[in-house]
Amino acid sequence: MTNIVTSLKDWQDIRKSLRDRDIGFVPTMGNLHLGHISLCERAAKENEITVVSIFVNPTQFNLSDDFINYPRTISADLEKLQEANVNYALLFDEKTLYHDNYEIKVCETTLSKILEGEYRPGHFDGVLTIVLKFLNLVQPKHCYFGEKDYQQLLLIKKMVAALFIPTEVVACKTIRDHDALALSSRNSRLTADQRKQAASFPQVLNSNASIAEIEEQLKQQGFKIDYIAEAWQRRLGAVWLDKVRLIDNVEWEA
Ligand code: AMP
Repeated sequence: MTNIVTSLKDWQDIRKSLRDRDIGFVPTMGNLHLGHISLCERAAKENEITVVSIFVNPTQFNLSDDFINYPRTISADLEKLQEANVNYALLFDEKTLYHDNYEIKVCETTLSKILEGEYRPGHFDGVLTIVLKFLNLVQPKHCYFGEKDYQQLLLIKKMVAALFIPTEVVACKTIRDHDALALSSRNSRLTADQRKQAASFPQVLNSNASIAEIEEQLKQQGFKIDYIAEAWQRRLGAVWLDKVRLIDNVEWEA
């Protein structure tokens, strides 16, 4: 059974009672799909207790429209967590998590400034801050992140090492739809036509074309491009279809 915890005090009592049991933690923003569930299932397999947080973190949104329109589907999410054998769902509100009135934050100065960071100023500071808060509250043995957000994964690993956090960061493969589009909560904001069009993004990213050719092909297919780049033996990209922003990355040997 998934226990729903909304009070910080309740969670702190529960956490004390769990003592040194192995906890696997999956932080999410909800609107759960099979990508999130694959992380939960792995956490359940590798730990005694699985904890998932659902919190649409305002400080990582650089566009207010994106925050307002971010899909929120809490009852369906809780059913999915139940099916995935998650023990605790943490649903804390903004006041609880940011009782410091946003006056304390984690800043990374280098990796967080390029690619996603260049196009989404402040995004990674928001991500690192909320993840650190949750790592302190949950004190997990393992914390699970998707390769879908590859730069985020690298930054979390970097923060955990830099701040001597006693949690192991576990990277999980990107889960894709039948046409290779990476599952994402933002996909639900695509129209039926855009959803069909979106499948070209991973296909073109995965082709042998050069970066310039990829950009040209995507432009011709109606995408607006933030960046296509090669780094960390991956090919990474961020594109827009109208008002919906998609990111993806694939393994890449230069
Ligand atoms: P989000 O709710 O978008 O913040 O994502 C929560 C976690 O799920 C992050 O670690 C993401 O990288 C991961 N995730 C999101 N989509 C996928 C996917 N398609 N495959 C694997 N992991 C994913």
